[in-house]
Amino acid sequence: MSKKSFDIKALVRPHILKLKPYSSARDEYTGSKGVFLDANENPFGAVTGEHFHRYPDPLQKQVKDELAKLKDVAPESIFLGNGSDEAIDLLFRAFCEPGTDKVLTMPPTYGMYQVSADINLVEVIQVQLTSNFEINTEAVLQTLKQHNTIKMLFICSPNNPSGNQIAKQEIEKILQAFEGLVIVDEAYIDFAPNASLTTLLNQYSNLIVLQTFSKAWGMAALRLGMAFAQKEIIQILNKIKPPYNINQLTQEKVLYALSLNHIRKEKVAEILALKVELGEALEQLPLVEKVYPSDANFILVKVKDAIATYQYLIDKLVIVRDRSRVTLCENCLRVTVGTKEENQHFLNVLQKM
Ligand code: PMP
Repeated sequence: MSKKSFDIKALVRPHILKLKPYSSARDEYTGSKGVFLDANENPFGAVTGEHFHRYPDPLQKQVKDELAKLKDVAPESIFLGNGSDEAIDLLFRAFCEPGTDKVLTMPPTYGMYQVSADINLVEVIQVQLTSNFEINTEAVLQTLKQHNTIKMLFICSPNNPSGNQIAKQEIEKILQAFEGLVIVDEAYIDFAPNASLTTLLNQYSNLIVLQTFSKAWGMAALRLGMAFAQKEIIQILNKIKPPYNINQLTQEKVLYALSLNHIRKEKVAEILALKVELGEALEQLPLVEKVYPSDANFILVKVKDAIATYQYLIDKLVIVRDRSRVTLCENCLRVTVGTKEENQHFLNVLQKM
């Protein structure tokens, strides 16, 4: 397939293109040796006696170098955010003119695309997924033709809340036809059978892939999200991010986690096995109408009465996500795969309803 390239400068908001970013103290001198009297830090160290008195690396070089090897992408093609939610917000701020530009989403999908759009006063055009949660590619392409102010399009794969991975060939059709940015949110990719679309980054310069340390890596509290894209896009995100968006503790812990990739793989395998068990057990329950197939670490379950079931579970201190008011998810609950004991407890409680 021929390589698709396009001019990123034509997409970015003009004032962002011209913006002179904040230059932090550590941008000009990057060595670790010296007497550092440049950043108004406390020379005696943290009150806890730890080493947190210096500002962290604004461009997280060590983390990116390791991540580049693991993901097989260049370090210059990686942006790190305070969760992938920060990357989503920065994309709006870099590319969408409030009140004028639009984005396209495919509900039911992750709620932050809409929230970030609302915060940034950007209209969301929706094209529903089909009843089995596949992309309606024809309708998407048609909608893109009708609205020439759509700057970005979000595809969540595996999709939250339905759990299914979206077919690569459908995403490629959109990548080829669309002149704006295609953001593929792969928060749950480590649980999915098919590989990440980072392999397409060299082929499509309008592709942005989002991933996170919050799910398979088990590090949601540290807040680290990744965006992979051509380096011109990464440079724009770096230009507008808060200078020290990834704190020192997170950088250190994630660097350590990257040396323990085998443990991530073991935990993913365990979660996938538990998911199969949980799905099979749910199917046996009379109150369950349907268990949707899942390529993620959660299961969408259709029950007879979602609101009553949700409330009953809350009363028993079992917390799931009520998705029953979401498009195409009538009477559906989203259940995260827990430990063996947690899943068993959830099933026991449900059985007694
Ligand atoms: N994308 C999807 C599809 C998600 O489900 C989530 C978390 N619920 C995120 C992004 C946000 O992840 P992070 O913790 O990296 O901000």
